Amino acid sequence: MKVFQSSGQIHGEINFLKEQGKTIGLVPTMGALHKGHIRLIERALISCDVVVCSIFVNPLQFNNPEDYNKYPSTIANDTKLLEEIDCHFLFHPNYEQVYGQSEPREYDLGNLNEIMEGSYRPGHFQGVANVVMRFFEIIQPDMAFFGLKDYQQYMVIKRVTQQLMPDIQIIGVDTIRDEKGLAMSSRNLRLSEEEYSSAVKVPALLKKAGLRLEKYTIPQTKTWFEKQVNKLPHLRFEYIEFADANTMVPVDRIEKKQSVRVFTAFYAGEVRLIDNMAI
Ligand code: AMP
Repeated sequence: MKVFQSSGQIHGEINFLKEQGKTIGLVPTMGALHKGHIRLIERALISCDVVVCSIFVNPLQFNNPEDYNKYPSTIANDTKLLEEIDCHFLFHPNYEQVYGQSEPREYDLGNLNEIMEGSYRPGHFQGVANVVMRFFEIIQPDMAFFGLKDYQQYMVIKRVTQQLMPDIQIIGVDTIRDEKGLAMSSRNLRLSEEEYSSAVKVPALLKKAGLRLEKYTIPQTKTWFEKQVNKLPHLRFEYIEFADANTMVPVDRIEKKQSVRVFTAFYAGEVRLIDNMAI
């Protein structure tokens, strides 16, 4: 695996490979790699000749400085994992290499910036859109791979890419969960044993919330879910929302044939976790 820290160098190398007709796949990450990330890279390796994994903890997307400062960094282990699965390139730039002197741009995110993560984490999706668009300019991928664990982020990236770089194909990859059902996340490393034991119960509650719609309304189900989460030690409910999987418009009832996902965010101790699933 080749490791690059310089944007100029990786850009040059990719240009050379593209001239030879190679297809390029990009998997952007913030490191502390786990099986969820690995699945994205494996998926990219199936579809692309050359796969680039980027590791960059992007300060622009953190609305909470403590979350940024405590974000885990395990670069030696990450490099080893990437080598083991035969990822071709690791791009590990610093801030300067990504943004240089340029000012952050303002992207049109429509309703995605108003709901759920958009409203609870002001500025977060603008930060995500900025970093992903910069990586697209540097790497010029044919395809880029994103986890559906961050479904709203996936929709943000699809929207901005359609507007500005429509030749890049955005591929969503299903959520990978640990043996107890908790969606894998680098932030899980920060959970105490007790916080973890409570957090692992949330995916089952979320699934149950979907099933309860056979008998109860969405508003009733939301109230039920909030109570269940807040009953678990160390957990603090933030939101539950049901939204159309294509438009992301929140719904209070589900039409026939409408595809809807259920989304939640909650704190386990100091650690904020999100999850979502199709219902
Ligand atoms: P992150 O390093 O958390 O920014 O995540 C990098 C990419 O990995 C994003 O596209 C995430 O959606 C994806 N990802 C993170 N956790 C998972 C997971 N448990 N399953 C699938 N994809 C994931």
